[in-house]
Amino acid sequence: MKVVHQLRELRQLLGALGPTSFVPTMGNLHEGHLDLVERAATFSQPTVVSIFVNPLQFAPHEDFNAYPRTRDADLAKLEAKNVDIAFVPLVSEIYPEAQSCFIQPADSLGSILEGAARPGFFTGVATVVLKLFNMVRPARAIFGAKDLQQVRVVEAMCRQLALDIEIVVNPTSRAADGLALSSRNGYLNPAERAEAPRLFRVLREMARAVGEGDTRFLQLEHRASAELIKHGWAVDYISVRRLIDLEPPSLIDRESLAILGAAKLGNTRLIDNVEVDRRR
Ligand code: AMP
Repeated sequence: MKVVHQLRELRQLLGALGPTSFVPTMGNLHEGHLDLVERAATFSQPTVVSIFVNPLQFAPHEDFNAYPRTRDADLAKLEAKNVDIAFVPLVSEIYPEAQSCFIQPADSLGSILEGAARPGFFTGVATVVLKLFNMVRPARAIFGAKDLQQVRVVEAMCRQLALDIEIVVNPTSRAADGLALSSRNGYLNPAERAEAPRLFRVLREMARAVGEGDTRFLQLEHRASAELIKHGWAVDYISVRRLIDLEPPSLIDRESLAILGAAKLGNTRLIDNVEVDRRR
């Protein structure tokens, strides 16, 4: 595995490699990330993984400085997965000058759900993802379903800006008790860690009810929020959405749906989502 810090070196190496599969990450790698790397390997082309904590997607009050950085352990994990290139740029390599051009998803996608809770977040995400795509020029990129709205933003960007990159979505990797793996889980104290799987449980319970034909979405959302609040959570949103574009569902058409949720436990903000298996 080659560990690369500079764009110039990255481009030289890529020239000799041919088409690649790309996994962008912010590091502090866990099994969820490594599942994406394994999925990338199934395409039988060289794999590039980036580790970059992107300042553009953090608001001033958020955890950019505190975000866990575990470079050496991350590189050892990638080496063990036979990754071809680990791209580990400094902030100055990605942003050599103050960024004045941005990819801003329309409000209908970028300012709902996560975007409403974190203004500017998806502008930061989309801008850095496009930039990384232009640096790596992969044949495909692998993203986790855990960040479903991020997937939809990246897919829309690729479609609408005619990027010739296949977006592959890998299922959410979970701990044995259902908690979606996340770098931010490391912020949880033992009591919070024991409580944390409730987010998945309430989303799964809602998905079951909706799957069995319950269309009282608002009532289900309120009930799920109340259950979390009762156990000490601060809820940002619990929402039934169309899987395809995260718009509110129609009550008439039978659409594929997902339940998305974000809530804070102590100082730790967790997100998750569950697809609805619609039987009726
Ligand atoms: P991050 O390092 O949090 O920016 O995540 C990098 C990539 O890993 C994104 O595509 C995430 O959606 C994905 N990812 C993070 N956690 C999980 C998980 N538990 N299951 C599947 N994918 C994940």
